Amino acid sequence: MSDKWIVLKFGGSSVVEPRHWLTIASQIKHKIELGYRPFLVLSALKNVSNLLEGLIHQAVSGVYQAPISRIKELHYQLAANLNLEGEQLLTFWFSKLSAVCGEIHRQGYIEPKQHAKVLAMGELLSSTLGAAYLNQQGIDTHWKDARQLLVSKNGSDTYHHFTDAQCYYEAESEPLWGHRLNFADDQHVIVTQGFIASDEQGETVLLGREGSDTSAAYFGALLAASRIEIWTDVPGVFTYNPNLLAEARQIPHLGYQQARRLAKFGAKVLHPRAIAPAEYAAIPVLVRSTRHPKLKGSLISSSQLFKRDVIGLASETELTRFQLQTLNEAEGARFIELLTEQGYNLILDAINAQGELLMSYANSDSPEPQKAQLMALLKYHPEIQKSLNISYKQALITVIGQQEGAWIDNLSRSLSKQTTLNSQAQFAYPQLGRFSLLCTHQQCLLWAKYLHQQSIENNPEADDFGPSWKEIVQSVE
Ligand code: ASP
Ligand code: MG
Repeated sequence: MSDKWIVLKFGGSSVVEPRHWLTIASQIKHKIELGYRPFLVLSALKNVSNLLEGLIHQAVSGVYQAPISRIKELHYQLAANLNLEGEQLLTFWFSKLSAVCGEIHRQGYIEPKQHAKVLAMGELLSSTLGAAYLNQQGIDTHWKDARQLLVSKNGSDTYHHFTDAQCYYEAESEPLWGHRLNFADDQHVIVTQGFIASDEQGETVLLGREGSDTSAAYFGALLAASRIEIWTDVPGVFTYNPNLLAEARQIPHLGYQQARRLAKFGAKVLHPRAIAPAEYAAIPVLVRSTRHPKLKGSLISSSQLFKRDVIGLASETELTRFQLQTLNEAEGARFIELLTEQGYNLILDAINAQGELLMSYANSDSPEPQKAQLMALLKYHPEIQKSLNISYKQALITVIGQQEGAWIDNLSRSLSKQTTLNSQAQFAYPQLGRFSLLCTHQQCLLWAKYLHQQSIENNPEADDFGPSWKEIVQSVE
């Protein structure tokens, strides 16, 4: 088979539906006809990673048989629909899963290493079924364990080392991975797992929740693939989450940096970490929908065909806002350091012109920091303690566009006329081509609609965008 690799990543909502496997198989055949060699990266079945996360905690108290049965059921059901012997194919993984849960129970606590082993099962299970199905369809497929292919770098601490790892992909680290990705004697389609890798000691590590996109980007870079295709539930990157806003327009073409910025500020379609490896190796990334395989999707690459003022909007909800009337920046910096040490993920720091106000937002991956807890943490910093103000359930909507454009001024002007909605704060960063607005969680969608109207729908450049989600849905029905 050709050595022109194409990496195809299918997400949880793609692999969970039996009828999507027909699309997956026909896409593989199509790519082979076009002269490519397919390399598949699969996610766990939709919701299985969440169930496994719950399972780790249930294992501590010893009640893990029922949740494991539920996970078995989901896989056996899919297997039956695909005419596969689910029980036979998956016993090996399920016995490993029970064994780790037993270990956790006996210990009475969860080690990060065990956390990774349990979560890894989702992708090991789905990919085992996937490879069996493709072979049954006459596609010569080899199942590969991603832990033997991807090597992770050392993490900042043990927890992050095992649950939020990043892998080697740069040319200078080739001695570490080069021999692992040598498929010269293997002429099959390759099926492997997203989300998992191993560290230099060979222990299982995770790439962080939603990390399968990142796996696809690593594999794309390591194999010097012709293209990476991310197959998901929506046909591409949109100007806002199409599941929330039917007016959101598809973006036919974006630069790596534009995609990275949308992802960083909350667009869920692609993981922000998935951009760097693809950009490094200059591999185009196509985002497509398994449900609507005929639609073209969005192409992310280095050429910037459209120089639109505004590219799109993204939002983060469930944020916590910290306001701090500090006397100097050093205190602000100390506060951020304290929160970071506690594992809070700060997504934005803004200091006003006088250096008086410092705000940060912790994202929902970490538990909400409780006031009492924060105060205890700040016991040696009475000045910070005194001036700290915390607001929960905040949302930050960010409009991403060209740097130094007039669009930010125009948008701010139109916002000053807006009277029905309240915003807590607005941040304009013309040099970065970014405008953010902070509001309550309840007003997030209303604000997003308004900002979308102002910056995309009423924009004379709107013709450059693809169809709206509403039009797409009408055209396929
Ligand atoms: N299954 C993992 C998760 O749900 C990784 C992924 O699907 O991207 O986080
Ligand atoms: Mg995803």
